[in-house]
Amino acid sequence: MARHRDAVCRLCRREGQKLFLKGLRCFTDKCAIEKRNFVPGQHGQSRRAKVAGYGLQLREKQKAKRTYGLLERQFRNYFHKAERAKGPTGENLIIMLERRLDNVVWRSGLASSRAQARQLVLHGHVRINGKKVNIPSYQVNVGEEVAIKDKMHQNAMVLEARNVAQSQNSVPWLEQDREQFKARVVALPKREDMQTPPINEQLIVELYSK
Ligand code: SF4
Repeated sequence: MARHRDAVCRLCRREGQKLFLKGLRCFTDKCAIEKRNFVPGQHGQSRRAKVAGYGLQLREKQKAKRTYGLLERQFRNYFHKAERAKGPTGENLIIMLERRLDNVVWRSGLASSRAQARQLVLHGHVRINGKKVNIPSYQVNVGEEVAIKDKMHQNAMVLEARNVAQSQNSVPWLEQDREQFKARVVALPKREDMQTPPINEQLIVELYSK
């Protein structure tokens, strides 16, 4: 499946804020946003024009898409599903993105970034209620237990994720058991549970409704 292969710190710099795409590094002073918080490219430092209207909507959509590591078509498909579901479209969209298996693995502190979580899922290292699931877009349900398979418990990458998890706020809809490398989904995520990075989903709805 296609995915973004460019340097990810450039994506944060383009949005002017941390999107937490690189695990432990995002919490250190090596973070590119701490060192060079300006738009990448030759004229980056002079491109500080005020963004409004369409530009603002576009940036918000790009930020959300990049945060969850999706490509345009995948993101648009989520939007169309969110439109068809009951309730406010913007809220439905964010909740669907939060329920993705790769996001849940990351939120549970079992991987240090969403990209790493996605790799763990794709390589078959993640179990849901004891069964292998290798689809990063799988939507988790209440009551399901997400775990890293036993053989991976001593893996350096997985162990490092635990350190990174100390720097992250835990989310109320996941009951985490980091010692056992697992987490249980105790409720569906709510919009207010998703705070970082701040996303104004209304701007995304306005963009796609044109
Ligand atoms: Fe790079 Fe992470 Fe900093 Fe973003 S938050 S610029 S991905 S280190």
